[in-house]
Amino acid sequence: MMTERIVLFGGTFDPVHNGHLIAARAVAEERGYRRVTLVPSGRGPHKGPAAAPDTDRLEMLNLAVKGDDLFEVSQTELQRAAPSYTFDTLLEIREACGDDRPIDLVVGADMLADLPDWYRADDVVKLARFVIAARPPWHEKMGAISALLVERFGKRLAADLIVGICTTPLIDISSSAIRERLSAGLPVRYMVPDAVEEYIRSRGLYLRDGSSGPVCGGGADGDR
Ligand code: ATP
Repeated sequence: MMTERIVLFGGTFDPVHNGHLIAARAVAEERGYRRVTLVPSGRGPHKGPAAAPDTDRLEMLNLAVKGDDLFEVSQTELQRAAPSYTFDTLLEIREACGDDRPIDLVVGADMLADLPDWYRADDVVKLARFVIAARPPWHEKMGAISALLVERFGKRLAADLIVGICTTPLIDISSSAIRERLSAGLPVRYMVPDAVEEYIRSRGLYLRDGSSGPVCGGGADGDR
């Protein structure tokens, strides 16, 4: 029997949305994965501070995947001191799971374009195989991204990286658009799972830039 791969899908998930879930499912289907581990990042080096506290981002992820056997949620990056580096996560997972199981790292093509600048990128590409979720219009940019990777890592490693491209459907949802909609008082129904929307409302998250807190706590009335 083939050893089952460990499949990681990282992100800020601030908040998790249906675009993440649909993309992860599409990749899993295409690659035949039975499990995908979602890894929410600490306040990472690639983004500014998350708009929701770690505990809320984690809780939203747990709610989003409840009852779906494909997904599990890892707290590894949240438990470490920020910033979260993929390199450290891979080492930690390697240590926990032993050397036998290969690791696949699912990344959006947008993230892949930044890969040459990742912390210890040369080691990261050796520790895990990359599976690239390329949604339109990113799939059109894969030529340019490939050239960048060849230049940075050499032909052989770049070829390994590029082997794992999955074209995912275009679901035009992003966490930033959701945060903007919520802070403008607009609905986010169908963009996030219902349970996530309920949680956001009950905790008063994303009401205004930089401010959030329980609605009933009296601190989130702001200018709405
Ligand atoms: P933000 O809008 O704050 O930048 P985001 O919606 O891109 O956030 P992240 O948590 O940063 O969400 O994304 C995690 C991973 O999910 C990334 O690899 C990203 O490319 C991918 N991703 C995010 N939104 C989608 C989507 N609508 N379809 C496919 N992949 C997505």
